[in-house]
Amino acid sequence: MEEVSIGILALQGAFAEHQASLNRLNSSRKLNVILVRTLDDLHQCDALIIPGGESTTIALLARLAGLFEPLKEFMNTKPIWGTCAGAILLSQSVVGAKKGGQELLGGLSIKIARNGWGSQVESFEAPLDLNGLEESTRPFQALFIRAPVVLELQSSSDSPITVVARIPLSLLPPSLIEENMTEDDPRTIVALRQGRHLLTTFHPELTEDDRFHEYFVHKCVLIQ
Ligand code: GLN
Repeated sequence: MEEVSIGILALQGAFAEHQASLNRLNSSRKLNVILVRTLDDLHQCDALIIPGGESTTIALLARLAGLFEPLKEFMNTKPIWGTCAGAILLSQSVVGAKKGGQELLGGLSIKIARNGWGSQVESFEAPLDLNGLEESTRPFQALFIRAPVVLELQSSSDSPITVVARIPLSLLPPSLIEENMTEDDPRTIVALRQGRHLLTTFHPELTEDDRFHEYFVHKCVLIQ
């Protein structure tokens, strides 16, 4: 059976937890999990996960490791999944960037608010209804830690965006609530895919529920 190599960018953040989740998966193909720290590591990968952590630090360390431009190129041809800080890095534009600006890989046509839930309420859990994942009727208990908020889906000539999960409007931070907002407002989106790329604003790797890892491997990486 041919192996498939899934990389996890291992410069900072929750990469070990993603590794543990991938190692637990039952996959139809043998998974080779690679912690990516160098260009050589990246070149071995068929797909990549960018973990949560601190987007500014991950970007800086990627730049120092000579990985920043190669990661952009990687994204043009291979699937990437960004969780939390990783989701910020994959976005086209960011509100609330670090003073002086911060580098993004871009690639997904969305605008995102860094630390969108603010610094006061730093973390919370919410049960999510899922669209298209295994056992979609069983809620996914999602952990949000200084999470970003998707603000806008931007028009693009790339693949369309599919919403994978939303949170109820009532869980949005009051500062983002506007009159006449509806449950299908982009700000309620917490998981989406565009082409073979996946974005989650929360941390599936910090739970024992591996359905997002399974989704990424089977629906984004192993599809033809
Ligand atoms: N707020 C962090 C950032 O800017 C992300 C937090 C996280 O990944 N848990 O990168």
